[in-house]
Amino acid sequence: MVPHVVIIGGGFGGLDAARALARAPVRVTLIDRHNYHLFQPLLYQVATASLSPGDVASPIRWVLRRQANVTVLLAAVQGIDTAARRLTLNAGPTDHGQPGDQEIAYDYLIIATGAAHAYFGHPDWADRAPGLKTLDDALEIRRQVLLAFEAAEREPDPIAERRLLTFVIVGGGPTGVELAGALAEIARQSLRKDFRNIHPESARILLLEGGPDVLGTFPEKLRERARASLTRLGVEVRTNSVVTTVDAEGVMVGGERISAQTVLWAAGVAASPVARSLGVPLDRAGRVLAEPTLAVAGHSGIFVAGDLCALQQDGRPLPGVAQVAMQEGAHAARNVIHAVRGEPLEPFRYRDYGNMAVIGRGSAVADIGPLKMSGFLAWLMWVFLHIFWLVGFRNRFAVMGEWAWAYMTLQRRVRLITGERLWPGA
Ligand SMILES: Cc1cc2nc3c(=O)[nH]c(=O)nc-3n(C[C@H](O)[C@H](O)[C@H](O)COP(=O)(O)OP(=O)(O)OC[C@H]3O[C@@H](n4cnc5c(N)ncnc54)[C@H](O)[C@@H]3O)c2cc1C
Repeated sequence: MVPHVVIIGGGFGGLDAARALARAPVRVTLIDRHNYHLFQPLLYQVATASLSPGDVASPIRWVLRRQANVTVLLAAVQGIDTAARRLTLNAGPTDHGQPGDQEIAYDYLIIATGAAHAYFGHPDWADRAPGLKTLDDALEIRRQVLLAFEAAEREPDPIAERRLLTFVIVGGGPTGVELAGALAEIARQSLRKDFRNIHPESARILLLEGGPDVLGTFPEKLRERARASLTRLGVEVRTNSVVTTVDAEGVMVGGERISAQTVLWAAGVAASPVARSLGVPLDRAGRVLAEPTLAVAGHSGIFVAGDLCALQQDGRPLPGVAQVAMQEGAHAARNVIHAVRGEPLEPFRYRDYGNMAVIGRGSAVADIGPLKMSGFLAWLMWVFLHIFWLVGFRNRFAVMGEWAWAYMTLQRRVRLITGERLWPGA
């Protein structure tokens, strides 16, 4: 019998695991609750009206269409029965699916279900302060940001208008920095001439970071440059500012009240809950404490990869970035092949190709080995690397076109307010 490898998750980790099994003598089933692979590094551009959802996501079935040993299933994995080596799937979210649960057996399992937001023990903040992890999150953020300007245009009371034009971003990591920079550009450039009653360029954009610096994982020089670039764009960067309340009015930072209609969450992650059903030790963020081989201790044939996997290298935890997920996914797959052949498993070693964050049009920071760059050259490098890594030729071509147009015109083409009905009853 050909061994059956099940991969949960078609993100960076899962996709590279499937690809690494292309020539292996195994049958692969890749299960994802979405029918697309999402390129999360460009998600903030969907949230800030630069790119369309289709530019940053590709159908998993299409991506793997040439790999004959892979079957792709659209379903959400609900539980893992490690004793029976079976997964429970919820395959009935729509009118078209079979209602109720289904089960699927595996010989080997690679779990790469990624991470979700964590609100520091305040799950109720989620409704008020959307985070950015999924396409739906990005569309919701785009909707809230554009609606705030629209509401301000109709608002006669200047205090209420000020609140509508105040945007708070919580968390000064790469996602928070990218969102803040893009929001500042929307307000100061793209929307500047489009309204009659308000001055969009007067919008207040605050980036609140609990730690001493934005982009805390970058070298000090690049952190300072990032902060300076954000300030030039008109972003109020506040460090050592821990948000203690998120409510209908806005946020509280220590004893200070900041009134803001739009609060965006770019702090804290928690691993996907699927790992809990393994019954193995997890770290504080809910990630599986994997063996150096990426195997799950006490469960032969089960591996983890990507944001779900907690692993230390040279005494430091590996970061939750796409490169780690891709390399771990491919490595987990290679260890599955070793296991199938009865060979010993190999420990994983991450090759760090560097870190980048974009701050705005023509401005980025790049920390690539001995190379510490900022400004336009770093941005150009960011542009080319992201085009290169993006999945699908059409997407590369489309994104390049969008960026060239946006660069020349300062415009954001996808300023569409979508989502649930805006005018109930109208
Ligand atoms: C806004 C944002 C910006 C980022 N920018 C960068 C960047 O610039 N550079 C960088 O290197 N990294 C960046 N990252 C981090 C990077 O995207 C992640 O580290 C990477 O996606 C992790 O890959 P993964 O395969 O572990 O998880 P993911 O890519 O998140 O994939 C997980 C997959 O599992 C599926 N899934 C989850 N639960 C279930 C379930 N129960 N059943 C079935 N399927 C399930 C999901 O639908 C998803 O497709 C960014 C992340 C975000 C959110």
